[in-house]
Amino acid sequence: MKFRMIVTDERGREWSEDEDRVAIESLAEAEVWAFETVQKFNDTLRPHEFPREIVRVELLPDGDTESEQHDWEKTNLVTIMNKYFGSHDTVKCRSCGITGKRLGLSPHIQIDYDFKAKGFLSCKQSKVLLERRAKRRRKADVDSLAAVAALAADDNEVEKDWRDDVAFLHLTSFNGILSFASHYYATIKFQGKDYDVVHTLSRREAADMNKSDGKGADGTLSWSPGDELSRYMSEDDAIKYAKRQWRELVPDAKVLILGSPVYGQPQPVLDGLTPEAVNELNALHQQCEDLGWWDEGNDKQVAAIWPEWKDTLKKASGDG
Ligand SMILES: [Zn+2]
Repeated sequence: MKFRMIVTDERGREWSEDEDRVAIESLAEAEVWAFETVQKFNDTLRPHEFPREIVRVELLPDGDTESEQHDWEKTNLVTIMNKYFGSHDTVKCRSCGITGKRLGLSPHIQIDYDFKAKGFLSCKQSKVLLERRAKRRRKADVDSLAAVAALAADDNEVEKDWRDDVAFLHLTSFNGILSFASHYYATIKFQGKDYDVVHTLSRREAADMNKSDGKGADGTLSWSPGDELSRYMSEDDAIKYAKRQWRELVPDAKVLILGSPVYGQPQPVLDGLTPEAVNELNALHQQCEDLGWWDEGNDKQVAAIWPEWKDTLKKASGDG
């Protein structure tokens, strides 16, 4: 049976070692084997070696069944603090190579903006999209590549930038995990800090939530009117409450945007500017949607919209 041990030591880096052992026939046996092997290693350390620890053991498919699931591997040694989106780890898929970030303590991976298209949610489809992209890039002219590179560099700039006055409404969506219907957690991100957008359950909302979650193991209902939480049953609800609360939560912010500081690209503006400015910015965002972002061969046009969007935002929020 084939399996993978994910291992770490006190230096913090994780790495993996793949094994193929006929004597092992289950995950439990693989785990025992992995722990014993690491124990043996630790018992016979040489002076320059560090004791190892098993992070987890995973079974590997025997044939070439291609997985839809990404296989994320942490790529930074120490958790990174960023002024705009707080503490995070950078991750890379061992199988297809796309990258992302794990923000704060969330187990969820936010895929980097370069891989924004829905297809990248599937590891198998990612490989198809990346191959297509590589083919196109081989044909693309130097200008287009330079524009994309400039954009990536821009995302990492440290001085005053477009995110300084922006509050981001970040929605984490959960789709039918366990018995839950799809729902969202609403957080406002501003200058590296997170603020929960909470609401108080009405009688009606508590009943709806109980209907979606079912009863707990002890037979009691989970939610009562008056409970406060940052979970929302629809995107529209989360936006409604965020628009009511953001000025109080982050008084220094000038504009509320739906999205994430991780993405350096036009994102929908929700509040804080004149209706004309909101329309102008959101029309630019819509143009990118229509062009298919980075995956329909329109990279150059999309890259050209980005500085225009940023300038418009700066002017509209009284900065330009
Ligand atoms: Zn992958």
